[in-house]
Amino acid sequence: MTLTDFRFETDPDGIALATWDMPGRSMNVITEGVMDQLEQIIEQVASDPAIKGCVIATGKDNFSGGADLTMLQGLGRAYEQLKAEQGEEVAMRHFFEASRRLSLLFRRLETCGKPFAAAIQGLCLGGAFELALSCHYRVASDDGKTRVGLPEIKVGLFPGGGGTQRVARLMQTGDALQMLFKGEQIRAPMAKGMGLIHAVAPQAEIVERAKAWIREGGSAVAPWDVPKFKAPSGKVYSPAGMMIWPPANAIYRRETHDNYPAAKAILASVYEGLQLPMDLALRVESRYFAHILRSTEAAAMIRTLFISMGELNKGARRPKDVPATNLRRVGVIGAGFMGAGVAYVTAQAGIEVVLVDQSVEAAEKGKAYAHTLITGQINKGRAKTADRDALLGRITATADYNALAECDLVVEAVFEDPKVKAEVIQKVEAVIRPDAIFASNTSTLPITGLAKSSQRPAQFVGIHFFSPVEKMMLVEIIKGEATGDAALATALDYVRLIKKTPIVVNDARGFFANRCVGAYILEGHKMLAEGVPPAMIESAGRQAGMPVGPLSLNDEVALDLVLKIAKATEAQVGQGAVDPAQKAILSEMVEHQGRLGRKNRKGFYDYPEGAPKRLWPGLKDLQPNRLDPEAVDFTELKQRLLVVQALEAARTVGEGVVTDPREADVGSILGFGFAPFTGGALSYIDFMGTAAFVELARQLEAKHGPRFHVPDNLSAMAERGGTFYAEADRRAA
Ligand code: NAD
Repeated sequence: MTLTDFRFETDPDGIALATWDMPGRSMNVITEGVMDQLEQIIEQVASDPAIKGCVIATGKDNFSGGADLTMLQGLGRAYEQLKAEQGEEVAMRHFFEASRRLSLLFRRLETCGKPFAAAIQGLCLGGAFELALSCHYRVASDDGKTRVGLPEIKVGLFPGGGGTQRVARLMQTGDALQMLFKGEQIRAPMAKGMGLIHAVAPQAEIVERAKAWIREGGSAVAPWDVPKFKAPSGKVYSPAGMMIWPPANAIYRRETHDNYPAAKAILASVYEGLQLPMDLALRVESRYFAHILRSTEAAAMIRTLFISMGELNKGARRPKDVPATNLRRVGVIGAGFMGAGVAYVTAQAGIEVVLVDQSVEAAEKGKAYAHTLITGQINKGRAKTADRDALLGRITATADYNALAECDLVVEAVFEDPKVKAEVIQKVEAVIRPDAIFASNTSTLPITGLAKSSQRPAQFVGIHFFSPVEKMMLVEIIKGEATGDAALATALDYVRLIKKTPIVVNDARGFFANRCVGAYILEGHKMLAEGVPPAMIESAGRQAGMPVGPLSLNDEVALDLVLKIAKATEAQVGQGAVDPAQKAILSEMVEHQGRLGRKNRKGFYDYPEGAPKRLWPGLKDLQPNRLDPEAVDFTELKQRLLVVQALEAARTVGEGVVTDPREADVGSILGFGFAPFTGGALSYIDFMGTAAFVELARQLEAKHGPRFHVPDNLSAMAERGGTFYAEADRRAA
């Protein structure tokens, strides 16, 4: 055998141990080479009479993160090439065989006649967990960090290495579907409870436990290969099956609005597979997998949510010449809603925090928020009491600015008032080290303007969090005109430490995310003003793929805030900067009806105590003209809601606010939930085809006005036949 990614040894009892440990990588991944070597290992174990069975373990902290998705992308490229050269049929056949290689390999392992056991520690996800599922025995470490799962759905794929079939034969169908749909990482004890693994043991003992299972005569026949095997939920065509499948279909529709072909493929693959013997079932799964692998949705989601996000997280935008920073202490000014969240996530990352507010009481209140959040984690079993003590020990709540003296970075989250911010900047700069970086978490004030109050504008940067800070994964880093590389690098290093995803944008009103969100909310208001039934507006948003409808989102953000921003924009940019219909609706809601949104339980929705929210019946009185629902073009409503955001994203590119399409896409999904199946606001345009998108936007402009006007950069791109990504790649080359 020629093994580079595995060590292989056989003990005196004849039990082989294949230790997966890829050189030069922090994490094992399934590559072509790994498949080649696994094949050799399986054949060796199967054919050598001296070998009784084999344990597969890891030489790293984690078992493996799964298949190398860039390899899957490569399969798609090979398909396109072969199709051009030899036609679709040849290409498809080749693609099908290549995409099911893993599935066949795992099936060979499962049926080779010798028992295999997996010893799992750390992450064991995707294709790697499918490898473990094909082993006859699975033991996982109880170390608290071990997680198994099939997260493929999160990048628009589904488990094509036998996962849908084995999971559906290990668990009740409903539970299996839920696991496959959610793609969650599952802790070892829970996985054992679900029947996904056989045993949990201390990390130091897992390999020995796996060996012992083989030594004691563990069977080399999977349960489903035993004659008369019965799946846990019984037959599909049975009274029990009829209790499962119709609701499963309905749940699929409710959760996906039919936007995610991978989810549909999971449903079909399990439904059809459960009616077949394993080999045929796996073939069915492979057919769906090959289909999904070539879907636009998978291409878009893999690119944005795996590749681009990974690159941004690893510091794709970090200035290379700045040496690594060593952030030990961070100051947070303003212990309100945002500041308290920032203090919490910073302390969670093991960084000392100095939390300053106008009074010690106010600062302590912010610190108490961290106490509440970590207690919630303890109650969910995700943290220990000792973690809480350590976390709170890292937060110093004070009103004394002198406590900031040793901070490497200070983040300000005081009131959104330029005067208050200016005063804070001066007070902070008077006490911090000359090399420390100052960051503002402003949501609307241009960084360049705020930096005018700074003595060292090169060390001034925007770090814009989204609320709630502890949940939202995106952070916008804003470069003011004078922001230097050290400030940018420090901001990026900080965001990396707190495990969030950064995008770097240039300074402009609303930066990136809030501009697109604003366009979405405005479109909801415009529809309302036109007389579209409110329930249809909200449904259109959700069915287009947004997490919530535009009116609901406005309630979350607060109506008075949107009105305040509209008024400030009008004051600064001039009359005409704000849509009169929107202003009329917001003024009526806020100033006459006292409806501010979720925060006072009255917005576009009512929020009755102990009952689900419901649209406020009074909305109809805001509609001078009410359209007949039958006469409303629902498809067009959905298009309007996405197109208007994508156009705004394209404008930010034209204006130089966003310089890298990866950031617009990742930012739009993580920041405001832009229909993830599209791959983000710019991928939505690219995958539709720039010319087709421009055509659609022009039709909408003719009908609905200039907010659908195609910016020059985009119309020129359409004429050139370009896309955002192709052009960015060309610039980078
Ligand atoms: P908030 O009113 O909840 O908190 C502001 C805090 O700053 C208060 O605790 C106040 O006592 C304190 N403060 C005011 N002046 C101070 C001073 N001179 N020194 C020390 N502390 C002072 O406001 P918030 O919602 O947390 O917003 C804070 C900042 O974050 C604003 O710039 C806002 O635009 C921005 N922001 C808010 C959101 C959001 O969703 N709320 C999102 C992103 C950014």
